Amino acid sequence: MSRPPFEPASERDLAVASAQLGRPVRNVLGIAARCVCGNPTVVATAPRLADGTPFPTLYYLSHPAATAAMSDLEAEHVMVELQDSLADDELAAAYAGAHAAYLDDRAQFGDVAEIAGISAGGMPTRVKCLHALAAHALAAGPGVNPIGDLALARGDWSPLVCECVDYQIDV
Ligand SMILES: [Zn+2]
Repeated sequence: MSRPPFEPASERDLAVASAQLGRPVRNVLGIAARCVCGNPTVVATAPRLADGTPFPTLYYLSHPAATAAMSDLEAEHVMVELQDSLADDELAAAYAGAHAAYLDDRAQFGDVAEIAGISAGGMPTRVKCLHALAAHALAAGPGVNPIGDLALARGDWSPLVCECVDYQIDV
């Protein structure tokens, strides 16, 4: 698994990620996690975009099958269940640690005052976006973001099974 600094994004990576998201990717720092086929799964984005906008979501889930799996879990109200699981002190402490790890990773790319202390996905005490939490778990590897790990385990997508379409990228 990639830790910052990320594997640099190739022209093909940027084209595939843009096709995955249906819009041109911007301010990409690198590819933080990949599908087994090599396509981007998690795109790392700068904490301040070129136009000056603060952007807290360092790790963005771009892979459509992974995104769909997390959307399915959200529709099945798994977020409520995972939120409730944070009543466990040990899990809550690990989740707070994930928040700190996220901020540490992002700090390597500059301090952005507007988003100081703000990570993603609801961390450190809420579960608000499984896509963001799964993206962090994929980027950091197992054992860093416990809620992201649980979401990935629950979802019907695996980073080890390619479900990519042919993006017909010619670069
Ligand atoms: Zn793939």
